[in-house]
Amino acid sequence: MMSGRREMKNLTPAMRQYMEIKGENPDAILFFRMGDFYEMFFDDAVTASRIMGIALTSRDRDREIPMCGVPYHSARSYIAKLVGEGLKVAVCEQVGDQGQAGAGGAGGGGVGGGGKGIVRRKVVRVITPGTAVEDELLEPGANNFIAAASVNSRKYGFAYMDLSTGEFLLTELASKEELTDEIRRIRPLELIVERSRQAEFSSTDPSVKKLTPLPEYDFEEGVAAGRMKAHFRTHSLDGFGCSGLPAAVSAAGALLHYIKGTQKTELAHIRKCTPYFPDDYLVLDSTTRRNLEITANLRYATKEGTLLELLDTTSTAMGARRLKSWLLHPLKDASEINRRLDAVEELVEKREAREALASLFKDVYDLERLCARVSLAMAGPRDLAALRNSLEKLPRVAEAASDLRAPMLSELSSNMDPVSEAAYAIGKAVVENPPATVRDGGVIREGFDSALDELREIGSGGKDWIARLEAGERRRTGINSLKVGYNRVFGYYIEVTRTNLQSVPPEYTRKQTLVNAERFVTGELKEWEDRILTAEEKATELEGELFSDLVETLSQYTERIRSTAAVVSTLDALISLARASERNGYAKPEVVEGTEIFIRDGRHPVVEASAAGDFVPNDLSVDGSTSQVLVITGPNMAGKSTYLRQNALIVLMAQIGCFVPAAEARIGVVDRIFTRVGASDDLSRGQSTFMVEMNETANILNNATPGSLVILDEIGRGTSTFDGLSIAWSVVEYIHDHPGLRAKTLFATHYHELTELNLTKERVKNYNMAVKEWNGEVIFLRKVVPGGSSSSYGIQVAKLAGLPDRVIERAGEILRNLEKGELTETGAPRLAAHAKGEEEIKQLSLLGAKDELRERLKTIDIERTTPIEALDLLHKLKMLLDE
Ligand code: ADP
Ligand code: MG
Repeated sequence: MMSGRREMKNLTPAMRQYMEIKGENPDAILFFRMGDFYEMFFDDAVTASRIMGIALTSRDRDREIPMCGVPYHSARSYIAKLVGEGLKVAVCEQVGDQGQAGAGGAGGGGVGGGGKGIVRRKVVRVITPGTAVEDELLEPGANNFIAAASVNSRKYGFAYMDLSTGEFLLTELASKEELTDEIRRIRPLELIVERSRQAEFSSTDPSVKKLTPLPEYDFEEGVAAGRMKAHFRTHSLDGFGCSGLPAAVSAAGALLHYIKGTQKTELAHIRKCTPYFPDDYLVLDSTTRRNLEITANLRYATKEGTLLELLDTTSTAMGARRLKSWLLHPLKDASEINRRLDAVEELVEKREAREALASLFKDVYDLERLCARVSLAMAGPRDLAALRNSLEKLPRVAEAASDLRAPMLSELSSNMDPVSEAAYAIGKAVVENPPATVRDGGVIREGFDSALDELREIGSGGKDWIARLEAGERRRTGINSLKVGYNRVFGYYIEVTRTNLQSVPPEYTRKQTLVNAERFVTGELKEWEDRILTAEEKATELEGELFSDLVETLSQYTERIRSTAAVVSTLDALISLARASERNGYAKPEVVEGTEIFIRDGRHPVVEASAAGDFVPNDLSVDGSTSQVLVITGPNMAGKSTYLRQNALIVLMAQIGCFVPAAEARIGVVDRIFTRVGASDDLSRGQSTFMVEMNETANILNNATPGSLVILDEIGRGTSTFDGLSIAWSVVEYIHDHPGLRAKTLFATHYHELTELNLTKERVKNYNMAVKEWNGEVIFLRKVVPGGSSSSYGIQVAKLAGLPDRVIERAGEILRNLEKGELTETGAPRLAAHAKGEEEIKQLSLLGAKDELRERLKTIDIERTTPIEALDLLHKLKMLLDE
């Protein structure tokens, strides 16, 4: 970066202005408007050209200054790339018009043309990952959240906003862990924190593309609260329910201040802030959300194979966002859940009305985001056309919804305000299919404004005259090839080819010489040209004014449009749930207060969708008082993990108000679902994270309540057999015995030893995944039956995987010896004796060999073992015996 006075002096005026503005925006890539381009210089140019994939050049006049530029009309896609990389972009516009002193209005205009002075420039907006509102920068079905976190002596404050939809929420959390969980749930693109805490928040969640530090001052409670009150023009924040939430207000105030700074506007569409409490909803911590693959799959964190993908057939972007938010915030209040369930039920039954609504929604654009752009005065002509078209659909939506009787549905349809004033205002002013920008002209309808019509008339009258001129001059001069043309430099001209020059009349003035022709003007032609250009210029200017007026008028309706948007998105989400329920044969669950969960013939919604009708349904009955901890045993691949997850998903689906994949379900509302998967069963994380597994288990033991549902899948597997078994055993005991805990727990394990727990613990019940042995092979029945399984069938499963017969036979022998605990002549256990007695008998210590061999066999991941690896394994097993 260049600096120093002497060097500054040598710069051109434009570059000096650049340096000044860059100095005010040191941490942003500065898009410096020069004519039809945005130019970047110095380090900005180097960074930006690499990310945007454009050429890096240099500005010669200013000695080797690195530079790159993009045309203004395609700037958005380039900005999207930079912002997508977590960078900040400052858009600097020309606020005066070069060449026309005084034009352009804003802030005094330019210093006149002639190349002497330079045009005034100003940063009009700063775009960061969290503050984008342009469609190019947003994902339609997802929110674009920006968040702030603050910490005071007692609490952790958290606030987040979607600038593109106007949502602004805040909360307080008791611990750093809860705060982290909340950040992971909201997945903001940008997170604002106190400067001194930057390091602490540096790797909270991968969704955070930009961590923005702000001075401590912005988080001070008094300062933040003052800014909030000033914004909402209230004397206190109590009216929003923010009293007693100082940490939340501190985060919210800092957030608001930061966003205002980037938008350079007052954020008129942010009319309220809403406190919320994560405890109001069924709590799903981040590990549980991951394990249940609710909105993102485990492997790639994409939507494929998730519950969201299965349930989402929404027609609008608003509906898609609503549904996603429901999935992440299941309800806890049985009557609220039943209201949704009744609505879904009616939409399942009234298929015709439902599909009629859905097809109307296909033409409803993103009202929330359109509104936000209107409020921020950033709406373009096509935004208004989309708004008008969408609003015009609403009366028909209301009509289609008018026959619906479920209380939630009739309330929604009676709240459907089509805001016809807004649609009418746009319809009157804007043409049917307007161009992308007002500067293109032709946005305002004919007949809307008489002054505009007059200017347009002059313009087109002049063009008619010029068109007639050509024919007239051809006749008069006898030059048949004479042409009238126009270019931006010379304006209108008459072109005569070289061979006809002798016939040019004397009143023609020569303007330009080409290779084969000369171009001329006449006084009359210039007069008309003036008239046309002035009229067109004035028309464009007037159109701009009329358009801004219209946007301003519309901003008074945005609050109403946003309420309507909420109605549309809710209906859309309900329809989506109803469709999924009908298509997949789900049943309406009975949701009640209480602790019992009863499911008959339940299925895993996602696995069943890919199992092509072969899914085996299973029951669940657990109530916390007679049966509390279900220990589910069975060999690998028997279906334990699937069973566990399907039950958690069924509860979750019921609590968002969706029908469930079961023949019958009675669900006592659950306050939290915990899901933990043993380290070696967790493909994406592997063995090294046994510590994580234990941390998470501790979290469950400390936070679960009798109202919680706990899913433990192979806990304790990430360590040696005896360790693991001991931990698993004592965890179950604790959940069973601790009076404050008593959570309903499904515990899947291949340690069949755990089935003995039910001999001493009355609420522990044993179940197993039924398998059939047939000709020494194991057949999975996928059926959950009472009782424990007595064998882990590891060897049979290994056989299914195609391990060589010799390995299987030998493993069988080893196992039989292990089980008999046979002793050798010296009294050591004869673990590895060959049944036929042909081979040398090896002596191994009981613990060592039993452990090692068992572990080896048990950790074989059959699904992923190739024949070659199997041979290698066989070799290793033999080596073990030779040791
Ligand atoms: P485990 O946890 O006991 O090793 P999984 O739950 O991972 O077993 O299931 C193993 C395989 O069996 C999976 O591929 C799954 O698709 C299939 N499966 C599980 N449960 C069922 C079922 N009820 N009906 C049909 N297939 C099932
Ligand atoms: Mg499993």
